[in-house]
Amino acid sequence: MIDFNRLIERFLEREFRPKKIGRYYPSEIGLCLRKVYYSYRYPKEAGKDALRVWELGNILHDFVVRVLKSEKNPEVELLKHEMPLKFDVDDFTIVGRVDDLLLVKESGRSFLVEVKSCRDVSSLKGPKDHHTIQLQFYMHATGVRNGILVYIDKNDLSTKSFRVDFDENLAKEIIERFRILHESLKNGKVPVAEAKQIPEMNWMCRFCEYAERCEKESVG
Ligand code: SF4
Repeated sequence: MIDFNRLIERFLEREFRPKKIGRYYPSEIGLCLRKVYYSYRYPKEAGKDALRVWELGNILHDFVVRVLKSEKNPEVELLKHEMPLKFDVDDFTIVGRVDDLLLVKESGRSFLVEVKSCRDVSSLKGPKDHHTIQLQFYMHATGVRNGILVYIDKNDLSTKSFRVDFDENLAKEIIERFRILHESLKNGKVPVAEAKQIPEMNWMCRFCEYAERCEKESVG
């Protein structure tokens, strides 16, 4: 019998490339800075489950691209998708990939669209902070001042979307977070355990692969 799980597993296997200090990612900057710091200092290979989840996210984004490109939806025009982005700050670089740039024809306005897959869109009351931070950075870096976060349900393709208005002060704070991360990494100084300290970020500790190390360093 053919083992399809094994075929998928092998297909998703990728070369392990640890991240480099001086090169940072907008998708990570809203996460706990201590965790991001650890991911550079003590890199861990993504597990099989994580690779499958990432691939599912890619598949769902491809689906949204097809929807936006479709002639059945003439009110919107997909101007670009998977736009690579490179932004230099001081002595480091931020690299990312903007999901979609969409033109709404009636208003003539263009929007940056960031697509996120999730398990249950009906329970979402608003956009997640770390996703908003990622999109705010993209708006800052591209100069496109309108954003939409679209959550798509993995179970039934239903969606919920949220407008995100550009906030210059928040953009400055985000750049400052990149600076703090960079300086911490250069100097080998572990950032504060912010997900433990900030109630809205507590949930991140439940999914943190560095929880044990973090606990030891918090005590020591
Ligand atoms: S356990 Fe929590 S506070 Fe510590 S690194 Fe992980 S996410 Fe951050």
